Amino acid sequence: MTTKTLKDLPVEESLTSGTMLCAGCGGLLLVRIFEKVLGQNAVTVNAAGCMSMLSVFPNTPFKSSWFYVAMASAPAAAQGIRDALDILIKKGRVKKEDDLKVVVITGDGAASDIGLQATSGAMHRRLDFYYLVYDNEGYSNTGFQASSASPFSSATKTTIPSALAPEGNLLDKKDLFEIWTAHKPPYVATISPAYIADMMRKIEKASQFAGPKLFIAHSPCPPGWDVDSDAVIRLSKLAVETGIWPLKEAVNGEVTHSVIQKKRKPVEEYLKLQGRFEHLFEPARQDKVLQTIQNKIDAYWARVEK
Ligand code: SF4
Repeated sequence: MTTKTLKDLPVEESLTSGTMLCAGCGGLLLVRIFEKVLGQNAVTVNAAGCMSMLSVFPNTPFKSSWFYVAMASAPAAAQGIRDALDILIKKGRVKKEDDLKVVVITGDGAASDIGLQATSGAMHRRLDFYYLVYDNEGYSNTGFQASSASPFSSATKTTIPSALAPEGNLLDKKDLFEIWTAHKPPYVATISPAYIADMMRKIEKASQFAGPKLFIAHSPCPPGWDVDSDAVIRLSKLAVETGIWPLKEAVNGEVTHSVIQKKRKPVEEYLKLQGRFEHLFEPARQDKVLQTIQNKIDAYWARVEK
């Protein structure tokens, strides 16, 4: 790998400044770095979600091409673009050196719920594309309702803590990494905006493979998570340090972890900074729920260490 430190990050931006997204949006930071590393020789397919607010006619921050589609069908649109490029190259109407990388960007709702079927099909067909999901753990573009990526005990607009369900969300976060890895695409990874060098190295590694290359990005959402916009990087760092967001990759189904903490911090340090978990601490501590969350993380890492 030629990518080792932040100094290796390309200087040239693929996404210009001045968008309509919230200040401090973790997803936007991820998309910016991702597009920067891939370069402008790309066409981005954007499923409906927060990032579709980036391009509002007639303005766009993308220096390369951008294609907007419904939530369910981004990988299908990517297939159409890939096929069109291949046909044009075959007919000699596009030079091979002018070929474009096809990139899908979606939120966790499109990735884990509404568009999962289309992604499964694209992986099965070995479509040559990149897929970045900015996982902000809810439907943030419509007011932060729960998605199947919302973590256990988080408060969202549809999992409001109540007398019947004081813990908030009763369901566990869907394990998209495992679902994708089970398809055995050449490359799957989790990434974080607090670990840019790790992310750059993973994109470079993925670029060696033809076929589906998929990334799940920890993406703090200040309004949905009820945190200040300057807390985003601190939160992403804590997510890795507490072990709730493992940084890992799978090459043809073989999983390895790219960051392993010698000593993990208690998950409380991550949870207590966020308004969406405030009900676990105030007006009374929900020790049983906090212990359940910690136990799940400990059980995950016990399996990894074994
Ligand atoms: S609602 Fe959240 S994910 Fe959407 S733009 Fe704002 S910070 Fe980003």
